[in-house]
Amino acid sequence: MTCNEIRARDLVEQYLRGQLPTDDSSTFEIHYFDCARCFAEVETTRHAHTTARRNRRREPIPPAKDWLLIMAKVAVAGAVGVIGAMIWQYSAGLI
Ligand SMILES: [Zn+2]
Repeated sequence: MTCNEIRARDLVEQYLRGQLPTDDSSTFEIHYFDCARCFAEVETTRHAHTTARRNRRREPIPPAKDWLLIMAKVAVAGAVGVIGAMIWQYSAGLI
């Protein structure tokens, strides 16, 4: 197995996703433990996968129906802020 073959067949992605057949996986491991370039690529790609998974878990995107509720809450919070500021200005004698 060569570096060019690994890139041409996108073996790093397949390996990390557990999609390589056992024989290919063993051959790939023998190569990448011995090749600094491929080893670095595996580690970089693994790190990118881990980061992507972590970010997906941390910041779930609300379903579309929830956006209306979120926008309504923001509008109410804004209105409360404006009214509060007006009350404060009135009580401070500024209006
Ligand atoms: Zn290599």
